[in-house]
Amino acid sequence: MDKNTRICIIGGGPAGLSAGMYLEKKGYFNYTILERLDRVGGKCWSPTYKGRRYEMGAIMGVPSYYAVHDVEEFCGITHDGPKLNRNYKNAKGDVIEPFEPKKNILKIPRLLKMKRQIKKFGELLETKYQGYDLNGHRGVAEGRYDGYAVTPGRERVQGINPNLKDLALPFKEFCAKNGVDLVQDVWIGPYTSFGYGYFDEIPAAYVLKYLDFQTTMNFVKVNLWTWKNGTQYIWEQLNDHLKNPARLNSNIEKVERKDGKVYVTVNGAVEEYDKIIVTAPLYIPNKRTDGQKGMVEYFDARDDEKKLFSRIDYERYDVQAFLTKPENHPEISYYVFDNMVPEKLGHLMVYYRRWRDEIDQVITTYALRKHRNSAEIPYETCRQMVQDDLKTMHNPAEEVINEWSVYYFPHVFSADYADGWYDKVEAMQGKYDTFYAGEVMSFGDMDETAEYSRELVERFF
Ligand SMILES: Cc1cc2nc3c(=O)[nH]c(=O)nc-3n(C[C@H](O)[C@H](O)[C@H](O)COP(=O)(O)OP(=O)(O)OC[C@H]3O[C@@H](n4cnc5c(N)ncnc54)[C@H](O)[C@@H]3O)c2cc1C
Repeated sequence: MDKNTRICIIGGGPAGLSAGMYLEKKGYFNYTILERLDRVGGKCWSPTYKGRRYEMGAIMGVPSYYAVHDVEEFCGITHDGPKLNRNYKNAKGDVIEPFEPKKNILKIPRLLKMKRQIKKFGELLETKYQGYDLNGHRGVAEGRYDGYAVTPGRERVQGINPNLKDLALPFKEFCAKNGVDLVQDVWIGPYTSFGYGYFDEIPAAYVLKYLDFQTTMNFVKVNLWTWKNGTQYIWEQLNDHLKNPARLNSNIEKVERKDGKVYVTVNGAVEEYDKIIVTAPLYIPNKRTDGQKGMVEYFDARDDEKKLFSRIDYERYDVQAFLTKPENHPEISYYVFDNMVPEKLGHLMVYYRRWRDEIDQVITTYALRKHRNSAEIPYETCRQMVQDDLKTMHNPAEEVINEWSVYYFPHVFSADYADGWYDKVEAMQGKYDTFYAGEVMSFGDMDETAEYSRELVERFF
């Protein structure tokens, strides 16, 4: 592609900003990033309370976050945040140690079985499911893998592996099929409580591309990265280091693609581009109060775009930031496994104490309020349930100082996944001078989205 190609990028989150970085690395400088909000970072949102930044969105990374590491290198920053640690409570608010045999004498046989199954699972992923952990979903539904190795060098890898078709199954079924049901006890912590849905509804592909074996072991060993100034700082820094920082407060009214050009009406004026990369939501099935819209609503969307993107659903994931009385401040972050099942929809699944050295700081809570097979719990109801749970946990909130309901983890379900949804969308890349990136194309975490942008640039520019 001509290095002077005029490229419009929609969205100044990790996917859009890293697309800018990788385009620059390849010699493309004629790009423009349009961001709807008055800040960059998207779901990496780290506001300040009493001089310290807390996390309303992304919190942590792992050592295999190679794309995030590229960004750190580009900007000369590092993961210098507070060390994470956590404990566990049951739904009654008692501290428990679910993985400690001495504290669970009766559960020893189950714990031993779980350990054996984890080992077996690791071996199966390496052998039977070779190629399972590549970024993106190209070829998976057809039993192929095609992408770049999850290594710092990201070597190109391709191959045939019919077993990969199993990844379309909900994770629960996938585990049952492989005789490793108990691994869910470990995978659920960094999966469901992090808002990525329930194991009976979400295809194994998403679970395992994010929580590949190595990443899960990093969670188990709490070998995690955080950033002192919050994850938003990564993207603020990147934005500052780009030749063309994002244009904030960009209200895109219309996008028309005709005669090989892309016309974007932004803040009342029409701008002309050659190509457009969309990292903003492609489709939102319901009306949202925060003004976010799917691209099909403001683009001259074609029938194939409308048909495919209307299959996307997302998680209703709510975050509240609260203050406590000093005597009610939690000692540490807590996971509540009892509340990570669909029957406990809307309840508090995890609460996070970021700053261990101070008690006059913010604690954040996390809850899901939609399961595929049940009605959405209204926002206010869920908010109250979480407040009540905090009382049960012996850490009642004094005041909620920030909150949001996130457009979170867009994905498709098993039938569409198995039907080759991803290969159909991948075949459309560039078709209308339009490229699709961001969370839905890979997975809803910082690294998978940034890595997808890297690969998109590698493949098409
Ligand atoms: C509570 C929470 C916890 C999380 N924890 C982690 C974690 O610990 N580790 C991790 O790696 N990830 C975590 N994530 C996920 C991570 O933040 C996201 O996956 C990542 O930010 C996705 O990047 P993105 O650029 O694809 O999308 P987004 O971050 O959503 O960015 C999209 C951008 O597009 C903009 N936009 C939308 N519509 C338009 C429009 N019409 N015009 C212009 N701009 C538009 C948005 O304002 C936004 O800035 C968490 C997220 C949340 C909310």
